[in-house]
Amino acid sequence: MEGLGLGTKSTRHEIVQKLYDRGYVGGRSVRPTESGRAVVEALQVYAPRITRPETTAELEGRLDDIAGGTATPEDVIAESRRHLHQALAELEEHREAIARWIRESVEWDRDFGPCERCGGRMRARKSRQGTRFLGCSNYPQCRNSRAIPREGVIVRVKAAEASLSGYGGS
Ligand SMILES: [Zn+2]
Repeated sequence: MEGLGLGTKSTRHEIVQKLYDRGYVGGRSVRPTESGRAVVEALQVYAPRITRPETTAELEGRLDDIAGGTATPEDVIAESRRHLHQALAELEEHREAIARWIRESVEWDRDFGPCERCGGRMRARKSRQGTRFLGCSNYPQCRNSRAIPREGVIVRVKAAEASLSGYGGS
């Protein structure tokens, strides 16, 4: 964020915390989750204006212009209002497609491949005790389940990458 000139020292931790709270990132080294990635991808396609770091940086630059006396607050407010209206119109226009994109990605986030017993899908679930496990989508007909670690983020590795990095089979 600092490299892109986004936020200030006092707002950055708040922004990162929000990403954690909404489940868009996880883990200690801040990895995007599948749903976090989906939100960004959907917005890049359907409302590119608001995902460009330059948009935020530009606005912050205009705030500096106000401080430096080369722009009036009224000018800058009118500009950003116009930009926000355009972004909102883009979002509204593609509301359905964006929702579908994110919904499918969240499903994919919870999907851990086929159940080897019945051909259902293994899904990440939470037990009543709060522990995470993989359970079959055909529960209760199929009671196949697997334990997964209590802490950390599960990172899906593509088969090709897995064999390249020495994990998993070929
Ligand atoms: Zn099953």
